[in-house]
Amino acid sequence: MAEESAALSDRQMQQIEDWFSGKGVEPRCSQCQRTQMSTFSLAAVSFITEEGTASTQRATTLLPIICDNCAHVEWFLPSQMGMDV
Ligand SMILES: [Zn+2]
Repeated sequence: MAEESAALSDRQMQQIEDWFSGKGVEPRCSQCQRTQMSTFSLAAVSFITEEGTASTQRATTLLPIICDNCAHVEWFLPSQMGMDV
């Protein structure tokens, strides 16, 4: 059975909104330029080793923001957004 990803908390959603408003920007898709975008979970991304395999020791947490129109994904670094991760 696949694991379910943990949904973002209300606090994390507020941190995202506060960060974007603090930067004076509205999330906008770089492909279709629409501003209807969604997010629902953080993602753990592994680094690739010199051998070309996923590192079991080095990973980072990213925030995907997904365009509701064209499904393009924009990635943000939550640790630099002041988010609880
Ligand atoms: Zn788009």
